[in-house]
Amino acid sequence: MTPVEALERVVHCLDRAHETGFKTKAFVRALEVVRATPPDELAERAAAGTLTKLDGIGDSTARLITETLRGDTSYVEKIEAETGVNLTEAGARYRAALRGDCHLHSLWSDGGATIEAMARTARGLGHEYMVLTDHSPRLTVAHGLSKERLEQQLADVAVLNEKMAPFRILTGIEVDILEDGTLDHDDAVLAQLDVVVASVHSKLRMERQPMTERMVRAVASPHVDILGHCTGRMIGKRDPSTFDADYVFAACAQFHTAVEINCRPERLDPPRELIDVAIDFGCYFSIDSDAHATGQLEWQPHGCNRAAERNVPIDRVINTWGADDLLRWVQAA
Ligand SMILES: [Zn+2]
Ligand SMILES: [Zn+2]
Repeated sequence: MTPVEALERVVHCLDRAHETGFKTKAFVRALEVVRATPPDELAERAAAGTLTKLDGIGDSTARLITETLRGDTSYVEKIEAETGVNLTEAGARYRAALRGDCHLHSLWSDGGATIEAMARTARGLGHEYMVLTDHSPRLTVAHGLSKERLEQQLADVAVLNEKMAPFRILTGIEVDILEDGTLDHDDAVLAQLDVVVASVHSKLRMERQPMTERMVRAVASPHVDILGHCTGRMIGKRDPSTFDADYVFAACAQFHTAVEINCRPERLDPPRELIDVAIDFGCYFSIDSDAHATGQLEWQPHGCNRAAERNVPIDRVINTWGADDLLRWVQAA
């Protein structure tokens, strides 16, 4: 293991443990520094004990680099052991059935890793495919993709797909549901993509009736395949949006839009009682990481545990299907 690999692995593990504090930032910064430093210089500094003279290398990151160069991987192993994501026995059946992940981000919008790094990690987790769903333009804080940038991305994905076959990167987007329920890209743009996740990211506090109309209109679009994190809640920080779940989930069932079970620990959206409603309406589901870093691709167990707890019919989870079946379902919708 090289120091770069060791640091990458530590950052990955801290991400999956949802550690976003000082410690993670220190390792991310050290990784940048180590990537930019010639290996010879790194080895000399490690031997001389002068790694911390490099701006961005502190005591603990210097120790990790020095140990790794000595062939000692015990720190990485310790972090590996401490940061595993909890998977219940019942959840394990769902996790074992998953063959892909339909909602994740890359550096193209607000993610922290390249498309290739995300794809390699997804493949390493046993997936056959992933759907790349960076943000749409309206979400400027997340550097959402204009039509032009999306087209560049599609060209990049085509090249990557040749390199990574048989693993498949399906094209997609997380398109914003605008206030009137229209979408933040033209139909012609959305029609080019394999899978479209639609989510509300603005005006989450809308009144119940207009919010219901907004969401129903969006999920009824023939281009929308998955309704992302439907309530927009942030556990402990932001209450769920209010809408009439009967209408929204009836529309999801009617128009073949899967209800996402968002696995981010701060979201876990929909809440339990809404999963029950969606089951009753005959909805399909997609258990998605919504990862913004490679380590977060390991979050699907959070949603699997939840799906098992509520008894979501496993054959209605669209990412337990192979990519061709998924695409057939999406196109029939
Ligand atoms: Zn989102
Ligand atoms: Zn997202």
